[in-house]
Amino acid sequence: MNIYKELFVGGRWEAPATDATIEVTSPYTLEPVGRVPEAAAADVDAAIDAARKSFEAGSWRCKTPDERIAVMRRLHELYVGRSEELAELQTTQIGVPISFSKMVNGPAPCAVLGAFLDIAEAVQWEEHRRGVTGADILVRREPVGVVAAIVPWNAPQFTLMGKLAPALLTGCSVVIKPSPETPLDANLLADLTRQAGIPDGVVSVLPAGREVGKYLVSHPGVDKVTFTGSTEAGRHIAAACGRQLKRFSLELGGKSAAIILDDADLDATMAGLQFASLANNGQACIAQTRILAPRSRYDDVVQALGAMMSGLVVGDPFDPATQIGPLISRRQQDRVNGYIHSGEREGARLVVGGPGGVEGQDKGWFVNPTLFADVDNGMRIAREEIFGPVLVVIPYTDDDDAVAIANDSDYGLAGSVWTTDNDRGLGIARRVRTGTFAVNQYVMDFKAPFGGFKASGIGRELGVEGLHAYVEYKSIAPAPA
Ligand code: NAD
Repeated sequence: MNIYKELFVGGRWEAPATDATIEVTSPYTLEPVGRVPEAAAADVDAAIDAARKSFEAGSWRCKTPDERIAVMRRLHELYVGRSEELAELQTTQIGVPISFSKMVNGPAPCAVLGAFLDIAEAVQWEEHRRGVTGADILVRREPVGVVAAIVPWNAPQFTLMGKLAPALLTGCSVVIKPSPETPLDANLLADLTRQAGIPDGVVSVLPAGREVGKYLVSHPGVDKVTFTGSTEAGRHIAAACGRQLKRFSLELGGKSAAIILDDADLDATMAGLQFASLANNGQACIAQTRILAPRSRYDDVVQALGAMMSGLVVGDPFDPATQIGPLISRRQQDRVNGYIHSGEREGARLVVGGPGGVEGQDKGWFVNPTLFADVDNGMRIAREEIFGPVLVVIPYTDDDDAVAIANDSDYGLAGSVWTTDNDRGLGIARRVRTGTFAVNQYVMDFKAPFGGFKASGIGRELGVEGLHAYVEYKSIAPAPA
């Protein structure tokens, strides 16, 4: 049981403003696994006050980029040393299989921080440009200011590090609001920032729910909001930031397509889709949940997917053999089962799974891995993000039809194409309107930009673009000759 009695405000563990607490419960055992103080509006005020003071005083902002990089390298070392523990904490809180946490939820955020350190070393923080009059203009990259970073529960360290690393490397001060479901890993990271030597005032971590999130977004002391979460919340945040002309970036939902071409190697494709479509119990924004199958091989694809999904090992998330654990909460379980009912009502053909209890699991928020075939792209199960282990198969006639169906979505986050012809795959990749895409796999490279087209977001994280998201440009002209 992880019990915290204090909040991390301005780089120090401080008494919270109220007695409110958040009880963290395992989605598998339904037993408590931790307790933290719940931040209130007064704690937000204190954190922003500390952030503003540190920013204006320049204790971090005015260090040289190399000095900041040196401190962040210490953070990286400490972080890598705790990666295993962070992986376990995430499985404890979220219920994702430990095999996935050890492969991704622990190491990936370390790799994100490592990639940003390399990027920051290569960035030209100041450059001289020859202006139209021939004058030497100094162009500076300066930190955007006090950043509010709001993250979801599904991949909490990964989404957090994609914001914290570039914000700190550019010299910003940061107030982090983790989800109430996952405060424990955020608190562990908070303490590492202190140990690494990030000065007082610069980092705060305020576990709380939506209302405190809204208060933080609208706080006049915040210069930029960086948000990962649902599209619905993203719309509210964009509107609130628009009113105040605050900078914002949004990483939102998805309904990505995996296009299986008629020449695909189906065994290799199924192994790849198990990861691309079902990793993290299907609770992944990039999950490729619309499987586009050519009519010429439709039955083979449905059969192969059915075999893959009915063979998934569902159970205790800490069992290394488990491939699908429980969902995060009863609310999420109800929501996903609601979509399964909706698919049945709309006339999709249930191939594997279905609503209701999972055999052999008498506790935990489990949902049956479920496959629907004969799905029309207009059905709710093809249009809305389900966020669970539910896949739909949609038939298509030719490559043009596949691209048109893939693009017929409100979202545009990710996608993949499966083929034995790499050039044909790249041709499809160029035509699908999503922020990331891959051939015969799905990966995000942390030195390349990540983000969404359309309702999947605004702005980019990762890569040099992810660092520039925390920068204001300033042009300085010299005195006239
Ligand atoms: P959510 O939008 O309910 O909550 C996300 C975070 O925002 C939480 O910390 C929550 O407390 C806070 N929040 C909610 N409404 C807010 C508001 N109006 N103002 C300020 N803060 C607010 O999402 P969730 O259920 O926690 O996470 C799942 C969603 O996140 C899915 O839609 C998923 O696709 C998306 N997601 C996107 C990415 C990406 O990179 N594009 C990555 C992971 C998850």
